[in-house]
Amino acid sequence: MGFMDDIRITGDPVLEAVCEPVERIDDDIRELADSMLATMYEADGCGLAAPQVGVLKRLVVIDVDWGHGDKNPFVLINPQIVEASEETRPYGEGCLSFPGVTVEIERPRHVVVQATDLNGDLLQYDAADSLLAVCLQHEIDHLDGRTLLDHLGPMGRMRVKQQVRKAIAEGAKPGDVSSPSERG
Ligand SMILES: [Zn+2]
Repeated sequence: MGFMDDIRITGDPVLEAVCEPVERIDDDIRELADSMLATMYEADGCGLAAPQVGVLKRLVVIDVDWGHGDKNPFVLINPQIVEASEETRPYGEGCLSFPGVTVEIERPRHVVVQATDLNGDLLQYDAADSLLAVCLQHEIDHLDGRTLLDHLGPMGRMRVKQQVRKAIAEGAKPGDVSSPSERG
């Protein structure tokens, strides 16, 4: 199907925009969630945010069990971090919008996130010291126009941009990472 062609790569201004809340869960939103899940699975990622496919809506899809054989998709509409620990931990993160790179990012080790699902029910996700804890924060960042680059200083940003350019020139596709890690 080639959904992966829709993935926006760092440098695209859509990745720096703040997304609008989803006002109503209608067929458009259900179709968007379905196509984002298909794109995420095709790219072998564990998370994808709507702006990464060019849609400025507060919607993310996550599946941290994918790769272990089972599909366990989460669709989070208008997700909000309601609690974050002061204690942080580093994690090597990838991003479908940054082909070929892994960046160590320090984030709160424990978060509580509330989001609406496709049925309109409010769900709470409580995650600590896990891929889910990292992925939730990484994807919610995207909805506020923040990417891996916003967690780095000027030197780090320059280095990562160069790595992405080099990786793309060498044929890297979204989902390719330099080492095993989270891919969102
Ligand atoms: Zn990402």
